[in-house]
Amino acid sequence: MNGVEVTGVAQQRSWTTNSLPPVERVDRGLWSVPVPIPNNPLRYVLVYLLELDDGVAVVDTGWSTDEAWTALGDGLRIAGYNVGDVRAALITHIHPDHYGLAGRLRAESGAWVALHRADAELIPARYGMDIVSLLQRMRALLTECGVPADAVEQLSGASMGIREFVALAEPDLLLEDRSTLPLAGWDLTAVHTPGHSPGHVCFYAPQRRLLLSGDHILPRISPNIAVHAQQPGNPLADFLDALARVREMDVDEVLPAHEWRFRGLRPRVDELVEHHRARLDETIAVLCDTPGLTCWEAALKLHWSRDWAEITGFMQRAAVGETLAHLVLLESRGRARREGSTPEHWYPVG
Ligand SMILES: [Zn+2]
Ligand SMILES: [Zn+2]
Repeated sequence: MNGVEVTGVAQQRSWTTNSLPPVERVDRGLWSVPVPIPNNPLRYVLVYLLELDDGVAVVDTGWSTDEAWTALGDGLRIAGYNVGDVRAALITHIHPDHYGLAGRLRAESGAWVALHRADAELIPARYGMDIVSLLQRMRALLTECGVPADAVEQLSGASMGIREFVALAEPDLLLEDRSTLPLAGWDLTAVHTPGHSPGHVCFYAPQRRLLLSGDHILPRISPNIAVHAQQPGNPLADFLDALARVREMDVDEVLPAHEWRFRGLRPRVDELVEHHRARLDETIAVLCDTPGLTCWEAALKLHWSRDWAEITGFMQRAAVGETLAHLVLLESRGRARREGSTPEHWYPVG
């Protein structure tokens, strides 16, 4: 026993039967609604409904597809509501499986949309008119990483296809760390947890001892933590810091945005920290084995959950960004250094 106890038993069971889990009432006035994600191994995002005196608030929304919209509407009806009853959409982060339906939901219900400031700042480049400069920065970064020229084109445009799944919506409320959400009857605080996305937040309900963890903490997989054009800096350091802060919170049950809910926040955080510790060691070992590798070459030598040949497009870019995140953290700890540019070459230190 690692101390993690699955409470979303039906959710976990649906994983083995490859079906959608049921809409469930998980606490007083709190529901989970699985909303399908097209062509994605995560299969669904768990949208949470928070009952209010005058309607309902949602945490995350789902991809902007008709199938997802129908699933969200069906979930609302099972909980006793209609789309028009939605008063607020609280978004954990900007990824399309979470933010995609925010615009449509606001248009149809008048709900206000809340998002952290750091993710709100990414909207114009990611989903609006500044896409050309974002693509240029992405190409430059991939070239720095030593990605071969023919793959740069493919990888830099790899997420363009998903833009259609986001209905562009500027948030009405910009969240900060420890923002209190203006929801009558709910004691809910946003906790800034950058790493998976610069403006990722968890929502904490201290009186209920619940943490709505978004993609920051999932029960089975480790979230993608990648350096990319919209996330320069040292995102893995940010992620580990945020894990350490969340670990100290008084939480009985974690309600994640994918997979299933569970008890055992601290042991799960410890597993994630251990996963990255081992990955950092593996990365150093690869550099010691062949000093002067580019990030791309290092990525090819690391072990992934499937063969590199089976990892394509967007997933390959995520893998390169994740490798770079580990290299950058090693550099910040004085264990690795880089030389040159376009591409950079990485060396172990000590
Ligand atoms: Zn995400
Ligand atoms: Zn997600």
